[in-house]
Amino acid sequence: MLEQLVIIGSGCAGLTAAIYAARANLAPLVIEGNQPLGQLSTTSEIENFPGFPEGINGYELMERLRQQAERFGTHFLSAHVDRAELREKCLYCGDQKIQYRATIIATGAEPRMLNIRGGRECFGGKGVSVCATCDGAFFKNREVVVIGGGDSACEEANFLTHFCSKVTIIHRRDQFRASKIMAERVLNSPKIEVLWNTVPLKICGDQKVTHVRVRSGDREQDLQCSGVFLAIGHIPNTTIFKDQLSLDANGYFTSIGATEIPGVFTAGDCCDAHYRQAITAAGMGAAAAILAERFLLSS
Ligand SMILES: Cc1cc2nc3c(=O)[nH]c(=O)nc-3n(C[C@H](O)[C@H](O)[C@H](O)COP(=O)(O)OP(=O)(O)OC[C@H]3O[C@@H](n4cnc5c(N)ncnc54)[C@H](O)[C@@H]3O)c2cc1C
Repeated sequence: MLEQLVIIGSGCAGLTAAIYAARANLAPLVIEGNQPLGQLSTTSEIENFPGFPEGINGYELMERLRQQAERFGTHFLSAHVDRAELREKCLYCGDQKIQYRATIIATGAEPRMLNIRGGRECFGGKGVSVCATCDGAFFKNREVVVIGGGDSACEEANFLTHFCSKVTIIHRRDQFRASKIMAERVLNSPKIEVLWNTVPLKICGDQKVTHVRVRSGDREQDLQCSGVFLAIGHIPNTTIFKDQLSLDANGYFTSIGATEIPGVFTAGDCCDAHYRQAITAAGMGAAAAILAERFLLSS
């Protein structure tokens, strides 16, 4: 069967695209991928999604988006796309071949995690975070640690100074990879301390993070803190499309919305290295659906 519109991914971008496309009577197919409902469904408290003054649980929010998409005629496939032939308008999920007239790629980007003890155990509500914009406000007047040395780490550290009493950046090199202006802002901040040539060994705490054990040269020490922000990059889920659509040096799609292949659109974190927020992903999903609808009408 030929699908009108296939949406790859069931996070904020994919499901918002589905709501718009379904309301335009396109009966889209959403291929959910290995993480149905996307990254936001893994987090407990969302305080910055408009319309929920008391905040909302991430899973509940995403389940609502799914219901809204389903209500207008979206259908779902519990599968993962492992091969794409975008110029032939063909996707493969294992042996299953899916043909379409238009597709929206909304496959997200996964935060890089630290492979040290405590990194995963303390993730989420226990104090380890991958997003200062999302979680900074939970650490008012607390001391936190940021791990990383690029633009993201500097940006996260600066943002955290709005809430936290002290921010310590742990960086394994002796200078930042960040742009000069970002680095200067960090170095001039009275609230930020930088530990150069330092690596984290273990994130410690029982129910909540209490300290991080670090090593600088031969010396080990414990840094007391309530939160640890990992800012060591993201991995966009774009590999299966890499020879067909252009990607930047970090693997993000260079096009947001329409791409170089007619009928192929992108949305959400897979094409956004800067904002990586639920609401921005949702906005891109809406825009991609409108573009796809116009494409289908005119082709
Ligand atoms: C722990 C955590 C907490 C966060 N908290 C907040 C917050 O408080 N507020 C906020 O605004 N943002 C928050 N974010 C960021 C937010 O979750 C993301 O910006 C948002 O989820 C991006 O949506 P997306 O649809 O682009 O991608 P994702 O949510 O990453 O969804 C990608 C989807 O693509 C699917 N997929 C991937 N590859 C394939 C494939 N080959 N075939 C089929 N499907 C595929 C996946 O299964 C998934 O469904 C948080 C992120 C994390 C990790």
